[in-house]
Amino acid sequence: MSRFFPPRPWLALAALLILCLAAGPVSNAAPAGKHSIRYFDLNKVRYLYLQDVARFYGMNCRTADKKTVLSSRYSRLVLEQDSRICQLNGLKVNLSFPIARKGPDMLLAQTDFRDFIDPILRSATVPKRKVRHVMLDPGHGGKDTGAIAAKVAEKNINLLLARRIAAILRKRGYKVTLTRTTDQTLTLQQRVAAMQKHQPDLFLSIHCNALDNSSAKGIETYIANPAGTPSSGGNVFAKKAAPGNAFNRENALLSWLLQEKLLASSKAVDCGIKRKQFYVIREVSCPAALLELGFLSNAQERHLLLQPLYQDKLSVAVCDAVQKFEQTLAPVRK
Ligand SMILES: [Zn+2]
Repeated sequence: MSRFFPPRPWLALAALLILCLAAGPVSNAAPAGKHSIRYFDLNKVRYLYLQDVARFYGMNCRTADKKTVLSSRYSRLVLEQDSRICQLNGLKVNLSFPIARKGPDMLLAQTDFRDFIDPILRSATVPKRKVRHVMLDPGHGGKDTGAIAAKVAEKNINLLLARRIAAILRKRGYKVTLTRTTDQTLTLQQRVAAMQKHQPDLFLSIHCNALDNSSAKGIETYIANPAGTPSSGGNVFAKKAAPGNAFNRENALLSWLLQEKLLASSKAVDCGIKRKQFYVIREVSCPAALLELGFLSNAQERHLLLQPLYQDKLSVAVCDAVQKFEQTLAPVRK
């Protein structure tokens, strides 16, 4: 339970009100009511009781050994004690903080609930916004080749894919702007400046991966990590909120839709949804994601990325995700 014991009742009430405003249905009351979620502070991180989170969603919660499964007819969340990686409806998701345990109870960090899982499970609660103008950012270009494998330069594949995505989005009625349309050198600052000039509703940076380990393959989607949380796979904390952090909940939903559509159409390996302070997605002031659409260092995936049919599969998947994102966030017509 909370270690926070305010000296006066009105202070307790004010603290509870602030907490509710910050995180919705969270309270330090015990036992948990139908819609309240108890919390516990551990190593300066606010954790929520998974039992209460499950009850809030109307999901079953079953813990066996180190594994907890939250499930309903619609959703399934598989979490593991001490792990930052979980499965959400079959997709691999990187949490900011590991699942903790207090006696028999498993705990989920409040930020992972509020800024990540909740916007995906309750997409209707993500703030409504117009999504008609999409900015595509083909990574690298000109002197900056990006990854190179077997004479295939990442910058060229990124541009090819961005052009295909742009063509399909335009056919579907979207306005599309590209940060570069040719093999041109662009700094990260120039890419963000282009965003500030054109004011798109959505920003997608297109990349391909490469690693020394040539067996590594698959697709991953990045969004900016929230302020005060570490990046995925590391411990670099975002010290203060960046412009991109104004859209944490929108970004969570966007990353989910992109990764889901991309994996369903490509059948690629799921490298997960990750959060990192990449400059372009951190500094833009609209929902944004950075896509790593495959590994050029893997021979099989490199061949696929060079095939027009596979490029189309990936491009259509990105456009389907954009469209679904737009429909979910569409302002209600009166
Ligand atoms: Zn790249």
